[in-house]
This record gives sequence, C-alpha cells and structure tokens, in this order.
Amino acid sequence: MQVAQRGLQVLVPAAQHISRSLPALTVTYRWDTIQQRLLQTASGKGDNAFPARTTQIRQGALQAHQLGLDLSEETAAATAELSFDDPTQAFKTKSTWEIARALLVLRLCSFDVLVDNSLKLMKVGQRFLGRRLFEAVMRATFYGQFIGGDSEKEIEATVRRLLHSGIQTLPAITIEEDIGDEIVIREEFYDSATQFYLDSIRLLARLSDYVEVPLFQLRVTSFLHANLLVIMSKHLDSGCPELSVENLASGLAEDNQNFHVSVLTDQENDHLRNTLRRIHAVCRECAERRIWLTADAEYTYMRPAMTQLMLAAMFKFNRDQPLIWNTYQCYLKGAHDYITRDIQLAKDLGMCFGVKLVRGAYMDKERALAKKKGYEDPINPTYEATGEMYHRLLDTMLGEISTQGQRCRLIVASHNEQSIKYAVARMRDLGIEKNDGRVCFGQLYGMCDQVSYPLGQAGYAVYKSTPIGPMETTLAYLQRRALENRSVLSGIRKERDQLWSEMKRRMVHPRSWKNV
Ligand SMILES: Cc1cc2nc3c(=O)[nH]c(=O)nc-3n(C[C@H](O)[C@H](O)[C@H](O)COP(=O)(O)OP(=O)(O)OC[C@H]3O[C@@H](n4cnc5c(N)ncnc54)[C@H](O)[C@@H]3O)c2cc1C
Repeated sequence: MQVAQRGLQVLVPAAQHISRSLPALTVTYRWDTIQQRLLQTASGKGDNAFPARTTQIRQGALQAHQLGLDLSEETAAATAELSFDDPTQAFKTKSTWEIARALLVLRLCSFDVLVDNSLKLMKVGQRFLGRRLFEAVMRATFYGQFIGGDSEKEIEATVRRLLHSGIQTLPAITIEEDIGDEIVIREEFYDSATQFYLDSIRLLARLSDYVEVPLFQLRVTSFLHANLLVIMSKHLDSGCPELSVENLASGLAEDNQNFHVSVLTDQENDHLRNTLRRIHAVCRECAERRIWLTADAEYTYMRPAMTQLMLAAMFKFNRDQPLIWNTYQCYLKGAHDYITRDIQLAKDLGMCFGVKLVRGAYMDKERALAKKKGYEDPINPTYEATGEMYHRLLDTMLGEISTQGQRCRLIVASHNEQSIKYAVARMRDLGIEKNDGRVCFGQLYGMCDQVSYPLGQAGYAVYKSTPIGPMETTLAYLQRRALENRSVLSGIRKERDQLWSEMKRRMVHPRSWKNV
C-alpha cells in the first residue's frame, strides 16, 4: 500500500511487542481533497452522492414482530414494526462481495480453536506468506471485515458506506494497556498516542460535516500506565479527598505544574500531571470541534480511577452539554449503584451526563482473577441477571433523559435484539423521539449488521464502533476482541443464516447482485 502517497505516515517502531498494541504513531493526513469531495457528495453533485439522510431513514419497511414486553398498547404496536428478521432489507446496501466475505469471516470466527490461536496463526501466516501477501489476504478478509481502515481514503470509504445505510461511524483507536504489559513508564509513548488521537479527531471533524452527532471512542489506558489507575483506585476506595472530581479537574490543564496529590509518590505525581495534560488536550480538541467523546470501560481493578478521571473531565467540559460520556458495564453486580451515584454527583456538581451502556467484555478474565485472588466475583451470577441489570440501567437512564432533556445522553451499545427493542419501546413510552439526538444505538463494525441496518433504516441514530489504525496495532486488538466477545461471536449464528439466505436469493435473482 502506498501509504505515503495517500498523505498518511504511520511510524511503528518494529521493536515494540506486537501483542501490546502500543506503537509510537505519527499521523499526518491530507484532508483538503476529502472535504471537497464530501461536500460535493453531500450536495448531490459528486459521482457517488449520498441520498439525503432524511429520505434515507424513512425508507425502511417495518415488519410486524411479537415483543412480549409489558408496554402500552400503542407502544407495543409501534415497536412491533421494528424487525431484525428481513435479510433482504437489512443487507440491501451490501454488495455481494461483502456478503461473501462476511460469511467466510464469521464462519471462521465460530471455530474456538481458530479464535484461541488467532494471534499465533496470524504470525505464522505472516512468516509464510511474507508481509505484502499477508496484508493483502488480511485486508480481503478479517481486517476488511472488522477494521475501518488506516488511510484517509479507506476511512472515508468506510464512513460513506455506513452513511449510505443511515449509520454513523464511531471511530475507536486500538491503543490500550493492561497492568503488567510494561513496567517502565514511557511518557513519549503516551504523548504519541495522544497525538494520534488528536489527528484522528481532526479527521472525524472533517468527515463529519453532515453527521448529526459526531462521536469518538476513547480508551483511558491510551494516556497512562494501567498501574497508576490501580494505585489511584485503591486510594479512592479508601476515600482520598485529594482525588475528588473537583480537585482532579483542577489538574486538567495545559500547564498543571502545581498539581500534586500527597498520597502519590513523586514519580506517580509526574505521570498523573502528564496524564491530565493529555486528557485535557483531547477533550479540548473535541470541545472545539463539537465532537462528543465516549470513554470505554475496562477492568474492575481500574474502574474507580477511570471513572473519576472521566467525571473530572465532565466537570470541566460538560457544563452546558454532555460532551464527555462514561461507560457502565451491566455485568457488574454493582452497576446500578455506580450509575446512580454518578448521576447524583453530576446533578450536585451541575454537570451534563452522557452514558455508554454495555454488558461488559472482560467477564472471563474478571472471574479468573477473582478466583485466583480469592475475592468475591464482581460479575453477575448468570447471563439473565446481566440482562436484567442492563434493562434496569436502561430504565434509569431513559428516565433521566425524559426529565433532564438535552443534559443527558445515552448510547445503547448492544447487539442484543431484546435489549434494543426494550430501549425502543421505553423511548416511545417516555416520549423520547428516535432522532432528537438524546438516545442512540451502537454495535461493533463488522458484526450484527442485521441489527444495525434495520435500526438505521427505521430512523434511529446508529453508530458502528469502528477500529481504525494500521495492521500492526489492530491484529492484537482483533484477537483480544475475538476472545473477549466470544459470546457475541458465537451468537452470530442468526447473522450468518441471514447472510446465507440473502446470498441464495441473489444467486436465484442475479440481477439483484448490485442492488435490491
Ligand atoms: C459500541 C460498543 C461499545 C462497547 N464498549 C465497551 C466498553 O467500553 N467496555 C466493555 O467492557 N465492553 C464494551 N463493549 C462490548 C460489550 O460489553 C459486550 O461484550 C458485547 O456488546 C456483548 O453484549 P451484547 O449486549 O451485545 O449481547 P449479548 O450477546 O446478549 O451478551 C453477551 C454478554 O453478556 C454477558 N454475559 C454472558 N454470559 C454471562 C454469564 N454467564 N453471567 C453473567 N454475564 C454474562 C457478558 O457481558 C457478555 O459479553 C462494547 C460494545 C459495543 C457494541
């Protein structure tokens, strides 16, 4: 790939360990041509103009479907129209090649042995095929299926393709860290990660001229060593007042040399000051470009500090609008307590509040760790209990949204059809409009399109969480996600069935290969 010719430079020091996913990255994009083309297409002048979103989102033919939830008659009737069971409608904007690729990749993902050994297999593939051929194969399969691209051209194409189906892109950078990944703190690494964020946010800003609410995904562990999060979490558990939201927010500044927390060592204080400076730079960039930021949730042993940092960012940036959102994992027994505490804190401190609601991706590791260290398993005892918790938090957040208006926002980040229908039904009951920006939906790029596409076509705001970045960083990410999301990957049987049925339909009606 002639990356340089495309105006993108990505420097990945070869010495870095691939599984750690932490390259030093310098990215410069040449955006002027993209913007011109996007503006052309937005106004319908380009060679591949987007259909106007308003007409596009109304064209979905809604199907009758039984819900089985306790809803008002009117709501039940209206919600029943949303169907995830019509492959022709769901995949109508997918090319036959994309359907064939999805069938192949999702089938391969259903074999445990391949998922468990995916990183090893990719390394072997790289050695046998050579770098170029390996990249070509990956781009035609796994990378193409699950990653949004690494050059302006590829990312632009992804954004356009999704937008064509009424779906927006939620870019995610795959730089993350766990405790023990690396002992030494290298500030320059976190600084280059921050620069990569800033460049990518600027890219999204250019691509988002006609996206209603541009959202960007943030991983706190891109900015600091995971061990500091663990240390801070312990101090927070014992009620350290110097780590209060207001005090941490005072350190969120370009010049924060005087910021100091007495319970931390000099080295920890240095690292915290640098971290706050980095988070501040990213939040300020988003505020200036009117991009909303949703911070991921990771492991429980970092959770208190991660949440506190995000609440501090909310304190600084969410005075008039919910720019920064935090994620709540409903597989945690304490999920409802955590969210109600933070909602109250947001009210007390006069902050707007944004939430990404997920079930949680680290169940196996959390459970194994609790067993090994002999503490209580933080995860709900059953899958059903997690589902109940999810709906409980949905009720809480939708209730807040219906009373607080535009000061609260929510992304229902789930592939679970029942949860999505539950959210849609509750929105109708509470009078929350599907397209007033307060509630949106999210699924992972390359997965469960039979859920995303009908939702987008029915006029709901839908985002695909789309990893972007070079092959080196995303391979490790892909493997980690495949392992963590095994429950979803193994539950994509329905998607495969629907893809197959659409493929057969197109075989019988070859004229529909290009379009339905
Ligand atoms: C846009 C988006 C953003 C995301 N961001 C994050 C994030 O920041 N942090 C994060 O942790 N995850 C994140 N995820 C992943 C998410 O947490 C889930 O792993 C994934 O979406 C699967 O849950 P589901 O609701 O889609 O579907 P389902 O397939 O219905 O649920 C599977 C989930 O249920 C839970 N579960 C399964 N078995 C059991 C059991 N025996 N006992 C208790 N619980 C069980 C697990 O959480 C499992 O992942 C994100 C997902 C999306 C779509």
